[in-house]
Amino acid sequence: MISAANKLAFVALPERDLVALAAVGYDTVQSLLAHFPKRYEDRRRFDAFPTQASPAAVCLRGTVIDASLKHFGPGRRFYEVIILDGSGGVFGSGKITCRWFNMPFIQKLIAAGHEVSIYGKVKDANGRLIIDHPEFEILREDDGASIHLERIVPIYKNIPSIGQRRLREIIHSLLVQTEPSSLIPIYDVDRSSARAQAFMDVHFPGLVESAKLARRRFALEEFFALQLNVVWRRSRYREQAGRVLGKSTTYLKRFYTSLPFDLTGAQKRSIKEILADMRTARPMNRLLQGDVGSGKTFVAMAAMLLAIDSGCQAALMAPTQILAEQHYLTFRHWLEPLGILVALRTGNRDEGNHLEIEGDPQIIIGTHALLYDSVSFRDLGLVVIDEQHKFGVAQRASLIQQGVIPDVLVMTATPIPRTLTMTIYGDLDMSLLDEKPPGRGKIVTAVRIGAKQTDITKFVKSQLSQGRQAYLVYPLVEESETVKAESATEAFEKWKKRLGSHEVGLIHGKLRPEEKEAVMRRFREGEITALVSTTVIEVGVDVPNASVMILHHAERFGLAQLHQLRGRIGRGGHKSYCILLTDGKNPDALEKLKVLEQSSDGFEIAEADLRLRGPGDVLGTVQSGLSDLRFTDFLADTALLREARALADQVLLEDPHLDGIHQNLRAMIDDFTGVADRSITGYHQ
Ligand code: ADP
Ligand code: MG
Repeated sequence: MISAANKLAFVALPERDLVALAAVGYDTVQSLLAHFPKRYEDRRRFDAFPTQASPAAVCLRGTVIDASLKHFGPGRRFYEVIILDGSGGVFGSGKITCRWFNMPFIQKLIAAGHEVSIYGKVKDANGRLIIDHPEFEILREDDGASIHLERIVPIYKNIPSIGQRRLREIIHSLLVQTEPSSLIPIYDVDRSSARAQAFMDVHFPGLVESAKLARRRFALEEFFALQLNVVWRRSRYREQAGRVLGKSTTYLKRFYTSLPFDLTGAQKRSIKEILADMRTARPMNRLLQGDVGSGKTFVAMAAMLLAIDSGCQAALMAPTQILAEQHYLTFRHWLEPLGILVALRTGNRDEGNHLEIEGDPQIIIGTHALLYDSVSFRDLGLVVIDEQHKFGVAQRASLIQQGVIPDVLVMTATPIPRTLTMTIYGDLDMSLLDEKPPGRGKIVTAVRIGAKQTDITKFVKSQLSQGRQAYLVYPLVEESETVKAESATEAFEKWKKRLGSHEVGLIHGKLRPEEKEAVMRRFREGEITALVSTTVIEVGVDVPNASVMILHHAERFGLAQLHQLRGRIGRGGHKSYCILLTDGKNPDALEKLKVLEQSSDGFEIAEADLRLRGPGDVLGTVQSGLSDLRFTDFLADTALLREARALADQVLLEDPHLDGIHQNLRAMIDDFTGVADRSITGYHQ
């Protein structure tokens, strides 16, 4: 027997295999056993030979009856193989053609007489059924009792210089030889079944179902480590000495009486949760999630007033200049009448747009500059961070590092699917604004394929004539900001001609901050009626009179981004229109756009986004730390995440300082650097 920790060199493997495996980082038994199959082929029962094209891949068994090299232009060749139906040993009459373009080495691998399994999507080329570039494997006569046939067979991601068969044989022999007890991890998440069996089930399952169960177990291991990391950070954070705020509520009461409307139930509930946090001695670390327009700003104001009531300062950080300036105006509008001094700090001094803080402001609003500039807060009691996902965890840490630990309220308008919230923001307490203020106009959303420009212009004009305003949005054509600006710039010239007497404005990321602000101010004041823009207006911009949004090349935007953009309209009482223009060429993109036609619920849209794009793309892998996960397909498995959380809570309960935790487990929770936010927790103290 060998141990899982043994070097592969210790196992009797030919040198060339060892070299190939080492080249991709596999040097121990357990590292190679963690090379899980990417899929399985059920070679007890192959698919029937197709009679037509199919969107799903098929797995066929047959005999090569012809193989030849063909030309299709000067110096360009493809290798063509005809395969005759061999399913179940009784030869049918079905045939299929396989082709490989510009891959001359394939000729050496597959030839007439070979019995093969092939896997790929079938297409119809003028009545001929073809699979281009199928995956294939040569089957052998003596395979009957082997690991390669008559069973569910693992198919691995290729490792250069090792064929599927060879890899399968190596992994199988390791599984058979490895001492089961050496496969038991530091913390076994499932003591009800042997982990060695789970490995066997993942690589050589008897049933498809057992492979799934085994995968789930390994996913649970991974999520357990992630959750242990999260609960550990959360508990460390809670140990820090925070401050007790909110003994007096003079300003807060004045604020409540000054409001011309009632707060929504969700706003009241969130404020209550926040105040309860602030009144305890532990530092608050709370996430306020609310869809666009759900009224987060007023919740933030209430929290800030409570801090001010205790004699502290409160800071609000926005992701962009425009937003900081807009918040500044909003805060002044609501809070100056109460006698609160609000200050704005944005940009940097070099750009000449630094605003000196005069007097002794109780509220300071700014962008990232708040973090890096040497602002000396007099006594910072609360930090509100708007649009967390744009900041990233590191910046949050950087602010907090600067002194006493203030209470932190993170606001995000990006609805995050529940399971992702548990994974990424698991260390934050959560308040949810799941209710919108009353009196909002309805938004009609429509996807228009290949719409005529004259019709669009006519529609926009009719709305403008009724006194409304419109956003005309253009996407990032390239990642480059220059190109983005140009495409909006071109459109701007065209729209000016189309809209005649209506004032058209242009805003994009290349403008200087004060230019941007000037345009936004003119739009807000109704001087500009149609605003051609890039996605700079994505978050937070609030112009209630704007009722039309035309999104050009809508297929190029992400779902969450489209939802954010759409949130710029329907903010007043008017009926609003969001028109998604697309050429309709990409069916996936159409499916995405249809989601918006059918739903205005940010959480529903976020779930759809997760389903259509996967978790990494939904949140940005770097920021979310999800790039480190192997089992991302389980991120939608709420039960699994709960189980992982419960296990982690249990470990922490038994060992609050993780003193007894094995160093390997410590290394494991350290691994998730993307989500680990060490400076906040004093993790390495
Ligand atoms: P968010 O930041 O969540 O997108 P805001 O705080 O900017 O939302 O609020 C959106 C709009 O709704 C603002 O114009 C605000 O004045 C208004 N609003 C907020 N709360 C209420 C309420 N309880 N009743 C009526 N209007 C509200
Ligand atoms: Mg907002």
